[in-house]
Amino acid sequence: MTNIITQLLQEKSYILADGATGTNLFSMGLQTGDSPEFWNADHPERVTAHYKSFINAGSDLVLTNTFGGNRFRLQLHGGENRVDELNEKAAGLLRSAADQADRKVLVAGDIGPTGEIFQPAGTLDIETATDAFAQQAQALANGGADLIWIETLSSIEEARAAFAGARTTDLPVVFTMSIDTNGRTMMGVTAEDIVNLAAEMLPDLTGCGSNCGVGAAEVVAAMVNMKQSCSKFDQEPVFVAKANCGIPEWVDGEIVYNGTPDLMARYAQLAYDSGARIIGGCCGTTPAHITAMRDALDNHQPGPVPQVQQIIADLGEVSVGAQSQLLGDMTVAGGSVSGTSPRRSRRTKRTARPE
Ligand SMILES: [Zn+2]
Repeated sequence: MTNIITQLLQEKSYILADGATGTNLFSMGLQTGDSPEFWNADHPERVTAHYKSFINAGSDLVLTNTFGGNRFRLQLHGGENRVDELNEKAAGLLRSAADQADRKVLVAGDIGPTGEIFQPAGTLDIETATDAFAQQAQALANGGADLIWIETLSSIEEARAAFAGARTTDLPVVFTMSIDTNGRTMMGVTAEDIVNLAAEMLPDLTGCGSNCGVGAAEVVAAMVNMKQSCSKFDQEPVFVAKANCGIPEWVDGEIVYNGTPDLMARYAQLAYDSGARIIGGCCGTTPAHITAMRDALDNHQPGPVPQVQQIIADLGEVSVGAQSQLLGDMTVAGGSVSGTSPRRSRRTKRTARPE
């Protein structure tokens, strides 16, 4: 299937995505507890400046400021009736910024999780969720989005609902999940599960992958796992890697990410060698990191799929669970021999949103 993403990947060997939205808006004055999406109406010039900072740093694909733009998340701020307005505005601002660039820049209409738990463990049903995602996706499309970008999901049910909602537009769809719990999402989903889900959605799905989570090493390990799992299918989705900028650390009452531009540059190269073709950063990733990633990818001599030892040596620790999966052991027990990942902590979870 040809679309705006696959066309761009015929012109260039990779698409560089952007970095963090939430953590960068905080540096522009957003306060903890504020809705970043309200800024699309209240501070459009700041949102535009954020978009342009990544376009100028070299991003070929930028996410709209709509991670929490579904009715469930907006309801926490009394904004449940502003889904259409805030999503359309966010996409419109990015559309203008992208159209002013001197090269093709894709407007990715960003959709994050509802924050609700699905039935039977929770109260949310698939139809209600799909309807909410469809509303957001259509508003993003109306604002000028080129594609729908679903991210930081943990459950298969939510991924299915978000995909169904996104497909009510005629835009290409990408989804990524956050593998942050010993080689799995919080809800137990592995890299192989993501590939199996993608196989169900093809050819209507364009890309899948991993974002956020517990650092760059774990995302690269997930990409290797996805690439391995994919060999059983005729058709491959475009693989997407969008790792956090290193590991979150608590310093003087603030979350900081310890990834240097050099580390993210190396991550970008290893993600490429693992099969990722859309590569970006998540929490903590600044325009300076993206510039380093662009230089690293432009000057990269592609290598073989990295071994786990190399990922650990270059980027840091890989969880026991992800390592077991790389060796073909897909059981939870295989990953839990030594307990959960040492990187998993309350602090990590706390920074999982806003991305
Ligand atoms: Zn993140």
